[in-house]
Amino acid sequence: MRNPSLTTLEENYLFEEIAARARSYPKEELLNLGIGDTTLPLQSSIVHAFEKAAHELGDPTAYSGYESSFGRTGLREAIAKTIYKGTVDPDDIFVSDGSKCDIARLQQLFSSDCSVAIQDPSYPAYIGASKISGKDKIHFMPCTPENNFSPAPVDADLIYLCSPNNPTGHVMSHEELARFVAFASQKQSILIFDSAYSAFIQDPTLPRSIYEIEGSKQVAIETGSFSKTFGFTGVRLGWLVIPKELTFADGHSVRKDWITIASTCFNGASNLAQAGGVAALLEATPAAVRHYMQQASLLKKSIPLPVYGGENAPYLWVDLQGRSSWAVFDELLQRDKIITTPGVGFGPSGEGFLRLSAFAKPEHIRKAMEMNALY
Ligand code: PLP
Repeated sequence: MRNPSLTTLEENYLFEEIAARARSYPKEELLNLGIGDTTLPLQSSIVHAFEKAAHELGDPTAYSGYESSFGRTGLREAIAKTIYKGTVDPDDIFVSDGSKCDIARLQQLFSSDCSVAIQDPSYPAYIGASKISGKDKIHFMPCTPENNFSPAPVDADLIYLCSPNNPTGHVMSHEELARFVAFASQKQSILIFDSAYSAFIQDPTLPRSIYEIEGSKQVAIETGSFSKTFGFTGVRLGWLVIPKELTFADGHSVRKDWITIASTCFNGASNLAQAGGVAALLEATPAAVRHYMQQASLLKKSIPLPVYGGENAPYLWVDLQGRSSWAVFDELLQRDKIITTPGVGFGPSGEGFLRLSAFAKPEHIRKAMEMNALY
């Protein structure tokens, strides 16, 4: 029998719908400012680590097969040291094949009776994965210019937060996050904090992790990704933090249950990807992040409409001043051959907005700016 939850999902995932609409135009003529994928090549220190690891796989004296389902120790330690500055125990870090996969697998920790609160607009996988796993009590937390894209907490068993947010680019302050931590602690909710874009935060006073907030280890899981920071979108590598301090309302350890799930449903991230991940953390420079953020700044200055984001996040959130986001998407595609992302695809509060991405190729950004397409 078919999973009945699938009937409640939109027929097309947002990015498939965009690809379908763009398909009637020659690919080489399109300027892609909708892209959430990275465009810079990998840094050479990472490529060397892949090469070395690949050679070892072909060497009978160095070959290795399966590794721990939770990730190799050296990588867990490197994440603890470089991302969390030693504030998170490497044993609480679980390496994966990427954040989207974790967002989906995490669902298995929780009963399908759980209610879920999601920032609106937000990354579509939260709602999709929740629904596929049978969770249909979904509450939106609208993020609009009126509330500075920072919603009040909504009572739910699971609360997803993404900061910097995809698509609005809003970064939650310490105070904003502390409000959610206090709320979750009072209501016995669990926060799932997505830090996929934390490396893009330029302002050193803004938090890059939920664990910068006191009391958060008792209430929060964090997901992290190598995709956007290091260009690993195709390599596939990410992690979860599930602190020992985090328990369900009945006192049972969430981490212990995750060990059961990860051992049962996952056989560990690729050993090549993990070797590259260690090099990325210990040897790579932040040049790629700098490049994308320069593009964000350039693009932001060129748009004569109210634009949010782009200063601590690689996305620009353009206010279309009352026009429909799919209508402007279609107009830009048909008239200027520019691909964007319609805001409404990220949730109802995204209607009237367009997401532009700083991950675009430099020549696409330059040409789009020359056209003054958004005037
Ligand atoms: N979380 C957010 C907010 C994203 O925007 C994305 C990808 O675009 C992901 C997670 C997925 O990351 P990964 O490539 O590690 O699966």
